[in-house]
Amino acid sequence: MTKFAHLATVFDGAAFGIALLWHDGSVLDSNAAYRAMYGDNSDALLRDHEAEFEELVNGKRELLEFEQRTTKGAGEESWAACAFSRVHEEDGKPYGAICMIRDITGVRESERRILHHMTHDPLTGMPNRLHFESKLREQLAKSGGTQLTALAVLMVDIDHFREINEAFGHDSGEFVVSQVGQRLGSVVSADDVVARIGTDQFGILARSHDDAQHVEGTARRVFSALAKPLELGTRTVYVSASVGIAAVSASYQRAEDVMRDAQIATRYAKSSGGSRTAIFDSEMAKRAEQRVQLSNDMRAGLERDEFYLLYQPIVTLDGGEFTGCEALLRWNHPVMGLLPPAEFIPLAEQMGMSTQIGRVVARLACRQLASWRDESGLDLRMNINVAWPDLLEAEFEQSLVAVTREYNIKPPQITLEITENIVLNPGDRATLLVERLRQLGFRICIDDFGTGYSSLHYLQRFKIDALKIDRSFVCGPEGGVASEPIIRALMTLADGFGLRVVAEGIETKRQRDILRSAGCRYGQGFFFAKPLSPEELVNKYPAAFARPAQNART
Ligand code: C2E
Ligand code: MG
Ligand code: MG
Repeated sequence: MTKFAHLATVFDGAAFGIALLWHDGSVLDSNAAYRAMYGDNSDALLRDHEAEFEELVNGKRELLEFEQRTTKGAGEESWAACAFSRVHEEDGKPYGAICMIRDITGVRESERRILHHMTHDPLTGMPNRLHFESKLREQLAKSGGTQLTALAVLMVDIDHFREINEAFGHDSGEFVVSQVGQRLGSVVSADDVVARIGTDQFGILARSHDDAQHVEGTARRVFSALAKPLELGTRTVYVSASVGIAAVSASYQRAEDVMRDAQIATRYAKSSGGSRTAIFDSEMAKRAEQRVQLSNDMRAGLERDEFYLLYQPIVTLDGGEFTGCEALLRWNHPVMGLLPPAEFIPLAEQMGMSTQIGRVVARLACRQLASWRDESGLDLRMNINVAWPDLLEAEFEQSLVAVTREYNIKPPQITLEITENIVLNPGDRATLLVERLRQLGFRICIDDFGTGYSSLHYLQRFKIDALKIDRSFVCGPEGGVASEPIIRALMTLADGFGLRVVAEGIETKRQRDILRSAGCRYGQGFFFAKPLSPEELVNKYPAAFARPAQNART
């Protein structure tokens, strides 16, 4: 074989595409690999790069490299990495260039897959937070700090997702998320971006050229899309969401700030009861700041013993005799003064501090019972309130058991009040914990009975000891009860299950009398006593706290 024949074999057999170009850009010769990528279309190689090619040929640049998309003969897309080098005539005049082309379709495809993986959520296949924020960043850069009333971030947060997960299991939780994702995808406009930005949170980047009505319309469509029930196996579940909106104004420069404000609005919508929309404003930001401050204070306050219990007696409606008490938490805030639980318990729950509070309450309660026992020799009874997140923590059970042992308190002395709007379902974590606590001897009472949604279910399922009729049924206009028929119905129900009933919030004699005639035997309320300090309680009911022997002598 001649030298020339060798070269021709190398040229044609090379894995790289090779093309020899004349100085006007036309392809003089090419090998098989090149033709496999570009076919016979000789203009395709320099498309959009003519000027640079001219510079290379004329010696104004030394190298020309780029990557480009090509269409293979059969119309199949591929990617090529092209590198050009100048070729001279023997006398030094520019001749043209030689181009080496590598097929990088495989590399590009893996890059695309990796990028997709990084920017999409595997469960729903939707874009993820990273993608969402980069789209938001793009939009902010485009707006260049000008007023953009028609750009907004809607954050859609599924209400009670943790409960759904706990009650129906993780598979069902994932099913709910993917269904919600699909529904959201179907209500947004083609211009909008919808992404899964958290476990139970979606983001919608609403863009519109008309006006802010687009945003409101989107929020409305979100609610109506979620209104349809979901079928979870044999069950039908209604899912709602809290939607926080941050309208992007010229004051925003960073995507993070828009996201933070949308999150604040979402939290506001959620803490206002969920299933609603809240639009971020500066007042909300101030409140969010205060909440952060308050939760920091709470952490410090728990260490500095700023929390204490008051005790409201639970008495017989017939004779007003003391039967036990409910421990009600108070916070002596160093600056704000005395705070009732409504001002910090919900916050503690949201901030994940509720178990810490629960531990403090259990300790204070047991210490008090032990101190009364030391003084009177009596094992008195006390109700303590348990927050929903505590029922998900095994640690709550351990610390309750440990502290009762430490103070030598018998479990039946303690009644755990669980509010009725907690969803308890057979087999879920909270239910198992309640059942275990029951087996250990603690008594269980359903608080705020009548305000939740699973009343009969509870009574059937659990060995409940007592229930408390919510104050909203007890407290009616002009010192009467809100609804005597409801009270009678609740009493019949409780009788059927053999439960002890305590009426909450009795403020007048008339209410007491109506409740008594309806068959209710126990009550609690300002008519008898407000929540009291231990000393006040002992002073008010000396006989209940006296040693039995002393009792006998008096
Ligand atoms: P709850 O368990 O239903 O407690 C009854 C609430 O009604 C108490 O409010 C009590 O002071 C109030 N109350 C009692 N009698 C009357 C009355 O005649 N009229 C009126 N208007 N109110 C009456 P408080 O102490 O502000 O507690 C509010 C809620 O905070 C409690 O409702 C309970 O759910 C929660 N809570 C209280 N202490 C604790 C605690 O230690 N841990 C947890 N997780 N929650 C607690
Ligand atoms: Mg209570
Ligand atoms: Mg209550």
